[in-house]
Amino acid sequence: MLSPQTTTDERLTAALRDGGHRVTSQRIVLHRVLAELGRHTTAEELAGAAGARLPGLSLPTVYATLELFEELGLVRRVSTGGSAALYDPRTDEHQHFVCRRCGAVADVEAAIDAAALAGPARAAGLAVDGVEVVLRGLCRECSSRG
Ligand SMILES: [Zn+2]
Ligand SMILES: [Zn+2]
Repeated sequence: MLSPQTTTDERLTAALRDGGHRVTSQRIVLHRVLAELGRHTTAEELAGAAGARLPGLSLPTVYATLELFEELGLVRRVSTGGSAALYDPRTDEHQHFVCRRCGAVADVEAAIDAAALAGPARAAGLAVDGVEVVLRGLCRECSSRG
């Protein structure tokens, strides 16, 4: 049996090599920390969480690394409409709920009919390469506060 960390590292290493990118300790640590956080994370949060293990880590580096991870399919960028982009270590199909009061983001286990949504756009000549649905409203805490 592989430890979860080995699997995480191997997934990253394979994706980097397949894409012709170098495997650096910085990339390995950032990918590990993202997996350890296990939730939707901003680049700032990731930089803060990884800072102790990567002294001198800069925010632009974290952004560039997250963009690379996204390109390699290792993270998903979530459009929440907020100011900071959120990165999701979960890349399997799920949707997102965003609280319009506190900005909390929750996973929603729902499959959407991407073909039905993309069809009319394609018919209008738009080159669709992704479909995302964001549900909005109040999270449990905010709605209980009234
Ligand atoms: Zn809320
Ligand atoms: Zn998610």
